[in-house]
Amino acid sequence: MITVGILNLQGAVSEHYDITKEAINNLNFDCGIRIVRYIEDLSGCDGLIISGGESTVIGKLIQKRGIDKYIHENNLPIFGTCAGLVLMANKLDHEQPVLNLMDMEVKRNAFGSQKNSFEEEIEIFGDKFQGVFIRAPSIVNVSGDIEVLSKLNDVIIAARDGKNLAISFHPELTEDTRLHEYFIKSLLD
Ligand code: GLN
Repeated sequence: MITVGILNLQGAVSEHYDITKEAINNLNFDCGIRIVRYIEDLSGCDGLIISGGESTVIGKLIQKRGIDKYIHENNLPIFGTCAGLVLMANKLDHEQPVLNLMDMEVKRNAFGSQKNSFEEEIEIFGDKFQGVFIRAPSIVNVSGDIEVLSKLNDVIIAARDGKNLAISFHPELTEDTRLHEYFIKSLLD
């Protein structure tokens, strides 16, 4: 049995909880979900989902609670969406705490402000997805072993590094469970 954690510090947490539950149902295997607020909640987690929200707030709390240290020491796979992606960067256009998990440079609010939010069809692994972009970040460049998974008008919006998966949009705001299923399945390897 594996357990997937959902970080609950700030942001679109309940949406991730619901869609993760749905993804586990679809996969039809033994996987628990754990809401993670403190470092103690992480023990036994095989992966962690970091939601969208305010990356400044989430990042500060992650640092304050020592969650960043735990992630690094235990090589915990992360699935980050939007603000979650911002936190996975090792280079950012803002001064704020990040996890330094992936060798990529990220720009916050790269597509404009809240009122410039949009939906656009995108492609990952050859499949089409409905991308919901809300003050979304972009990946300016990647290096090392990072694999670019998707671009929107030449701008990188999804990447992976081993089991770490970073996407700049919000699958949890759609009914589409495929990316959550993909992340959960990757935890079995
Ligand atoms: N712009 C936000 C940030 O950088 C992310 C927005 C979101 O998660 N929808 O924190």
